Amino acid sequence: MTALLLKGHERMNPVERERADQAVRFYAQQIAEQQGTPFVQQESIALGLHKLVDECVRGLFKRDRKRARRVACKRGCAHCCHVQVDITEAEARLIVRALRDNGESISPAGIEHMRAQRDGDFDSMSVEQRRCVFLNSANECSVYEHRPMACRKYFALDNAAQCETAGANKGAMVLNFVDLNAECATAAAYLVQRNGPLPEMILDVL
Ligand code: SF4
Repeated sequence: MTALLLKGHERMNPVERERADQAVRFYAQQIAEQQGTPFVQQESIALGLHKLVDECVRGLFKRDRKRARRVACKRGCAHCCHVQVDITEAEARLIVRALRDNGESISPAGIEHMRAQRDGDFDSMSVEQRRCVFLNSANECSVYEHRPMACRKYFALDNAAQCETAGANKGAMVLNFVDLNAECATAAAYLVQRNGPLPEMILDVL
């Protein structure tokens, strides 16, 4: 389960809860079937999940145009790239493969940075220490095309400053505009695929 879905579960009525659980089971079965198919690479499964999450998000924006107009997320705003992001091993492999295919690599300083994040107490780190290794100097995601599901589906409404984690807001989780199916697909992937914090997963597959 994702933290958000667990939280949402408490607020759902029994019918909604059953519907969400059914969706998680449905997606989990689909992913498990793909994983069990010979010659299907983990990277392809991650690509398929990213496509599904993007479609869910597009659907959400179409369905709820009123709230979509209030989305405050924009390029260069990277508050949410300073919180702990969980990814699946397949997503880690996809990112590492894409970097290699482009002749790029993570610098030794970047690897040290991830080791410190993996080995330390993430929540007590300074905002700089919590910075995602893939965030570039322009505060843009350097692996945007292959960013994990967790980075594709949350949107802040009205005021992106509420996602700021440097000061009093530290530890806050601002998840204002989310599609339930995207959340269920992510929860399903976490159920059937190895997953963990981004630095740990990336270091594991390097
Ligand atoms: S992978 Fe990209 S979008 Fe996700 S936290 Fe890192 S820099 Fe941000």
